[in-house]
Amino acid sequence: MLSVDYINKAADKALAGKGLTLEEVKNLQTASDGQIYSLFAAAYTIRKKFRGNKVELCAITNARSGACSEDCSFCAQSSFHKTKVPVYPLLEENEIYARAKRAQKAGAGYFCIVTSGKGVKDKKGFSKICRVISKIRSKLKLHVDASLGELDFTQCKALKEAGLFRYNHNLETARSFYPAVCSTHNYADRLKTIENVKKAGIELCCGGIFGMGETRKQRLELFFALKDISPECIPVNFLNPISGTRFERKKPLTPLEFLKIVAILRFIFPRQEIKVCGGREANLRSLQPFLFLAGSDSIIIGDYLTTKGNPPYQDLQMVRDLGLRTN
Ligand code: SF4
Repeated sequence: MLSVDYINKAADKALAGKGLTLEEVKNLQTASDGQIYSLFAAAYTIRKKFRGNKVELCAITNARSGACSEDCSFCAQSSFHKTKVPVYPLLEENEIYARAKRAQKAGAGYFCIVTSGKGVKDKKGFSKICRVISKIRSKLKLHVDASLGELDFTQCKALKEAGLFRYNHNLETARSFYPAVCSTHNYADRLKTIENVKKAGIELCCGGIFGMGETRKQRLELFFALKDISPECIPVNFLNPISGTRFERKKPLTPLEFLKIVAILRFIFPRQEIKVCGGREANLRSLQPFLFLAGSDSIIIGDYLTTKGNPPYQDLQMVRDLGLRTN
C-alpha cells in the first residue's frame, strides 16, 4: 500500500528536477481517497516551487462551429452526431477581434481561436485567421493561441509569423485507446501536426480528455507519451458527456479521481503549465478550488466551445479567495 512517505519521496524527486519512473507514477495512481490529500499537498509544493502563485487565465472562442467531417466520440461538433450545437462558417475578422477584446476585459491573459474540422484547408480562411492574430497581437495585451486541427509546416510558419504564441493539439488519450475515440484520423496524424508546430518554434499546448472509459494503465500510457513530447502547456479536460454523442452515456469519474490526474501530472511535469479545461464545472462541482491545491496553475474562463462555463468574475474571485494571483 502507498504510504505518505512514498508520496513525499516522489515529490522530493520532482522538486529536485528528476523525472519519475513509470513504476513510481503507477504507484501514485493507487493513492486512496484517504491518501489523496497528501498527494495534493505534495503536488501543491511542486507547483509552488516551479510555478509560484500565479494562475493563468485563458478564454477560448469557437470561430467555426459544427459540421465536422471527423468522428471524435466525445465531440458535439462531429457531423456523425445529432446534437444541438450551432453550425456556422468561419467568423468575420471583426467578430473574432471583438471576442478577444471582451476576453481581455473579462480578465483573460490568453485568447485561443478554435475552429471545428480536420484543419483549415481553404487559403482565404487561413489568411483571415493569420490577419486577426496579428491584429489582436498589435492592439491588445493578449497572448494569442489557436486550435485549428491538422497543420502542415508551411501553415505553422505562417502562424508563427502572424504572432501566434501557442498551438493546441491534444493527443486526446492513450494510443491504445485512440481507436475507441476516433476512426477518421489516427494517432500518427496527431503526432505529425505536433512535430510541425514544434519545428516552427511555436509553443505547444498538448494534453487529453480523461473519463472517456480509458483504464488507469492507459492514463499512464498517455502521461508518458506526453512526457516524450514535452509540451509547454498540458490541458486537462474531463469528459462532459453530451447528449447525441457516442460517449453520451459514459459514467463520470469521481471529482477526487479527476483531481488525482491533475496531481500526478504535476509530479511528471513540475515546470510546465497545467491547464484545467472543459468539464471542470460539471465534474469537480464544489471541489473546483481544489484543482489549484492539486497542482494546476491555469484554467479556462468563460464558456467552452459547446458548453457553458462559470461566469469569469466567479473564477477570478475563486482565485483571489485562495490567495493566488492572476497577474
Ligand atoms: S474534436 Fe475537432 S476534429 Fe474531432 S469531431 Fe470535434 S471538431 Fe471535429
